[in-house]
Amino acid sequence: MTILDGKALAEKLKGELKEKADGLPRKPGLAVILVGDDPASRTYVNGKKRDCAQCGFYSEEYTMPATVSQRELLDLIETLNGRADIDGILVQLPLPKGLDAIALLDAIVPHKDVDCFHPVNVGKLYTGQKGGFLPCTPGGVMAILREYDIQVAGKECVVLGRSNIVGKPMAALLLAENGTVTVCHSKTPNLAQKCATADILVSAVGKVGLVTGDMVKDGAVVIDVAMNRNAQGKLCGDVDFDAVAPKCSYITPVPGGVGPMTRAILMENTYRSCLRHLGLED
Ligand code: NAP
Repeated sequence: MTILDGKALAEKLKGELKEKADGLPRKPGLAVILVGDDPASRTYVNGKKRDCAQCGFYSEEYTMPATVSQRELLDLIETLNGRADIDGILVQLPLPKGLDAIALLDAIVPHKDVDCFHPVNVGKLYTGQKGGFLPCTPGGVMAILREYDIQVAGKECVVLGRSNIVGKPMAALLLAENGTVTVCHSKTPNLAQKCATADILVSAVGKVGLVTGDMVKDGAVVIDVAMNRNAQGKLCGDVDFDAVAPKCSYITPVPGGVGPMTRAILMENTYRSCLRHLGLED
């Protein structure tokens, strides 16, 4: 069994991005909008700012009180849409109640939508058109599979979860790589049976201990996207790691698996967007 080291791969990718970004006529620029005082969101935004610094990118943070109006946020997005030094605009989710997240995400011009949430980019993802962005978390999973030479073509892939952020785009990327994909959710009967068919099992649910040893086929590749806290407050995924790992060929740890790769793909998207804005790609 091999542990898939997402942390090391993310460091490698960020190092490569720094070298490439240093050769550009200007720094790739990312603007992050944080609304309210959710501590987890604050931690994520700090991480993204650190990643930008590490890659030699320019970053800007807009911290808004939870009382900010939808109009003010739309005006800010409009200003950032028009800025030549900003390649990516990111609204940190979740937003406080009363704000319409979908309308805000839709207001970001698709060519700066480095999170790949805009319907134009989601459509490009599903239709296989070029010029969009990789969805960050599923894109991070695919980069891990590629790094370890894990073939997807012809494999039975089971994705647990169907959110717009993880489950659905994960399924789209596996399908694009010629996997045979089953997507499970809270209404799926016989979850254990479905999981046991998987050559590649991706869990993105958010339930501690959901995936147990008896649900996993011998030799399976298990990717744990979830970030949960267990009863002791420790960060963990959906997968009962100690029981599942001995049966796997490959498995991601939590932490140190998919999480760091999500952030690395965000940096890659920002870099790619900068290249496009400079007329150097696509
Ligand atoms: P979400 O929007 O809450 O979606 C959870 C999905 O799990 C839903 O589709 C839900 O089904 C399904 N589900 C719930 N209970 C289930 C069960 N018993 N069996 C099978 N499916 C079940 O969550 P999300 O945003 O996709 O995030 C999922 C997890 O990934 C969370 O732990 C989150 O923290 C983590 N995450 C990690 C990263 C990273 O970088 N590593 C990034 C994003 C998210 P229904 O659709 O039927 O409700």
